[in-house]
Amino acid sequence: MKYAVSFWIATAALFALAACGAPPPPEDPPPPGAAAHQGAAFEITEVRPGIWHAVGTGAMNVGANAAIVDLGESLLLVDSHITPAAAWVLLEELSPLTPKPVRYVVNTHFHFDHIHGNQVFGDDVEILGHEATYDVVAGGGSNSGTAWDAFVGTLPEQIATLESRLEAAAEADRAEIADALARTRAYQEATASITPVPPTITLERRMTLHRGGHEIQLLFLGRGHTAGDVVTFLPEQRVLITGDLVPFGLPFMGDGYPEWGETIRGFAELDFDLVLPGHGQPFEDKAKLGYLAAYLDDFWAQAEAAHGEGVSAEEAANSIDLTAHGDHFPSVTAPGAPLIAVERAYRLFDARALTPEQ
Ligand SMILES: [Zn+2]
Repeated sequence: MKYAVSFWIATAALFALAACGAPPPPEDPPPPGAAAHQGAAFEITEVRPGIWHAVGTGAMNVGANAAIVDLGESLLLVDSHITPAAAWVLLEELSPLTPKPVRYVVNTHFHFDHIHGNQVFGDDVEILGHEATYDVVAGGGSNSGTAWDAFVGTLPEQIATLESRLEAAAEADRAEIADALARTRAYQEATASITPVPPTITLERRMTLHRGGHEIQLLFLGRGHTAGDVVTFLPEQRVLITGDLVPFGLPFMGDGYPEWGETIRGFAELDFDLVLPGHGQPFEDKAKLGYLAAYLDDFWAQAEAAHGEGVSAEEAANSIDLTAHGDHFPSVTAPGAPLIAVERAYRLFDARALTPEQ
């Protein structure tokens, strides 16, 4: 009987809808694949009034940090994380802090861990990025290439390693390894739903937004971590949002350029007192920019010398000595440099040898 009454009400409602042509009530879109996680996925801190920094807690793989800037009526989001699932969860966890919608997304560069959430944003959201970022993403280079192969291409091996560690683990270690395995499997599942979306508006040197009584500058001062690193500068709040051009520690160098240090020194001239990096915690010490620029200059000079002397990339990765920078980068404890960075440098030097500058 109950079923019959429900059926009648539902049927009457359908007829009523058909009669007036009203659309069905809107529903929240379901989360993209593998958005499930335990506890908060982000620690979101309001670092200045109307500026938040979102750092992953480890509950799910979100990739890079994000920064959110209040534009008055709406929000600007810097970087959209590693998967549609991660971007979706960011919006979910941001909503109790501000009801305003995201209207602009900045892509700091083309790397997958910063931009593969772009697809969760609708047509009313503009995605801003450098022309070089557009070219790479539109050409399929965000889900292929050096960075993708190194981190995502190795997921099956990472999962297999965790599975064998779990099998061999003592009882006390099992929960931690099982958690890591679940997170890695969820991330692999989430990568299946990625459709890379390139920027909808591109810039070559700079773009300025005037919104909510503030000025938001998007700046490109030269190649560095990639060919199209865009930094977001908020002059009134004196905040610099750097992506991976200046992370908290040492950056991935597999897509870098020799002038990276020089580009960083250009940004160091700006008047800011807080850096929101693409990885790691916010920091106020501007001297860190100089330390990273010096490390990068040293790496590129030693890589160029080794290349010129005909030293193989493997040998150079062992012999390049960056320990002079150990005081500022505690992970540098012995001679050596990442092979992926040396191979990148060698590719650029080889290409330069083929097309000498006039
Ligand atoms: Zn990157």
